[in-house]
Amino acid sequence: MRCYCCSSKSFDECCEPFIKGDKHPSSAEQLMRSRFSAYATAHYQYILETYTKEKQQGLSVEDLAQSAQGATWFALKVHPTLAASSVDSLVGNLVSSTEDSSTDSTVHADAKVEAVTNAEPISKTNLKSISKPITKPITKPNNAIVEFTAYYFENKSMYQLHETSNFSVEDGKWRYHDGVLHDDCGKIKYGRNLPCVCGSNKKFKQCCATKSR
Ligand SMILES: [Zn+2]
Ligand SMILES: [Zn+2]
Repeated sequence: MRCYCCSSKSFDECCEPFIKGDKHPSSAEQLMRSRFSAYATAHYQYILETYTKEKQQGLSVEDLAQSAQGATWFALKVHPTLAASSVDSLVGNLVSSTEDSSTDSTVHADAKVEAVTNAEPISKTNLKSISKPITKPITKPNNAIVEFTAYYFENKSMYQLHETSNFSVEDGKWRYHDGVLHDDCGKIKYGRNLPCVCGSNKKFKQCCATKSR
């Protein structure tokens, strides 16, 4: 069975080992995915344990179970972030934009040539500072953000929760701290003939729509 978090892996090779405590997520995104799968499978103890210590204060498994009651979480989309995008493409963009502007400057006014010449050392510095921490990692970052949209059914209606979440490492383990909800959260209408939000390449009506109850 494909994992609840909508990755390309099966549940037992993706989020299940994290929820069972056999493995620990090695990235904020993995933790976020496993927390979604824990909601989908009603493992509220795992949800509680994967909050930062500060946020665990005043939370209980019962509270979490109660707040999730009635919701059927069925699909997750993780939005690409700058951190997740490849460094190559980032460097590529910088190089090509420098090339573009210098081509420009040969055609246009002298002032522009000057501006480009001035700009060049800066972009070279940028290239260095971007590639350095990735090619030679010294310390792993202890904080990360992940943006996602989670989809659920409640009373036969479809909802989306679009959040940018903050994660940090505590005692060597990724933990969820808090998140900011986006304006498009709430009830949505999704065309039954559109490709399903879970990324299965099936029509929505033949895929996750059947999980509505
Ligand atoms: Zn998963
Ligand atoms: Zn689907």
